[in-house]
Amino acid sequence: MIPLVKTFLPPKNVLLPKLEEILYSGYIAQGQAVEDFERKFEEYIGAGNTLSLNSGTAALHIALILAGVNEGDEVISTPLTAEPTNVAIKMVGAKIRWADVDTKTGNICPTSIENVINEKTKAIIVVDYAGIPVDVERIQQISKKYKIPVIEDAAHALGAKFNNKKTGNHFPLTIFSFQAIKHLTTIDGGAIQILDDDLYEKGKIIRWFGLDKKLKRLENNITEQGFKYHMNNVNATIGLLQLDFIDQIIKKYIENGKYLDSQLKGINGVELIDYYPDSEPSYWLYTLKVDDRDAFISMMERNGIMASELHKRNDLHTFLNDNPTTLPNLNYFYNKMVHIPCGWWVSKDDCDKMIHLIKQGW
Ligand SMILES: *Cc1c(COP(=O)(O)O)cnc(C)c1O
Repeated sequence: MIPLVKTFLPPKNVLLPKLEEILYSGYIAQGQAVEDFERKFEEYIGAGNTLSLNSGTAALHIALILAGVNEGDEVISTPLTAEPTNVAIKMVGAKIRWADVDTKTGNICPTSIENVINEKTKAIIVVDYAGIPVDVERIQQISKKYKIPVIEDAAHALGAKFNNKKTGNHFPLTIFSFQAIKHLTTIDGGAIQILDDDLYEKGKIIRWFGLDKKLKRLENNITEQGFKYHMNNVNATIGLLQLDFIDQIIKKYIENGKYLDSQLKGINGVELIDYYPDSEPSYWLYTLKVDDRDAFISMMERNGIMASELHKRNDLHTFLNDNPTTLPNLNYFYNKMVHIPCGWWVSKDDCDKMIHLIKQGW
């Protein structure tokens, strides 16, 4: 079975000597390797400061704090995402306000965001679902007009671009996940790409108990709630090596994604994603809309290809459904959407097989 997601790790002869070195170096906590990983990740993204963390969920949690979200506030979000996006909103005691999705992409709809903004709205979380960039330009305009900060959850979209610039360049706070099945894994890990230098300094303190690592322990005075969210040298060592491979890995996702885009056009019962102008997806999953999705999934699975909707729409979780709303666009999209594999492990022959199967019908 060709899986929908698969972990990439550097070859053994590259990874194991470096791992052995760091494991027995006498210093495996947050140190030089973490510092090096952050600077190298910044270089990859091309703007801002990297605050490395031990998960993408920790990144969302700190991003919400840095955006100034408090108990009783509201955060506008999308139900079409992995649960951590929305669970994190509850971690700061805020309530979730759903915006509907755009039927073209499945991503949060700017018009719907504008319709649900109210005096309690303190932040907007947007998700580049499956690696498809959000409508960056319109969301930036809304953020400016209402003076509400945007957090971009780019856990699926490392290496995706808008206007030739990678995710991490467009909003004040962009979060990434380095969990096992994302484009880049450090086994577990995450980061916030923070454009503002002062917010970055604040983030460093929050990630480590509220303590300032630049001061001696006895000179420290905790003045706000912090957490134990930092990355350690072992995960950072893996991340540093992963960054040597990331361009070639993401290139594979994109080549496969573009090939599928070009070959699956005009097939009966298939609707392709209509990407926003000047945006380049990084195709963490290949997404399409199909008629009779269950039959499509069975047909693909009978032929050795995993196909799935993968995520449960988050408004179906009681705990997350703070403000039940009718979401007609999501109803339409969620009914038809399906993901098929397109990552680094998928060959051109695999793509051709999928194309042939889909053309035959289900
Ligand atoms: C994976 C993921 C996260 C959380 O990342 P972890 O590193 O698993 O905590 C957040 N948002 C989305 C959309 C994700 O897919």
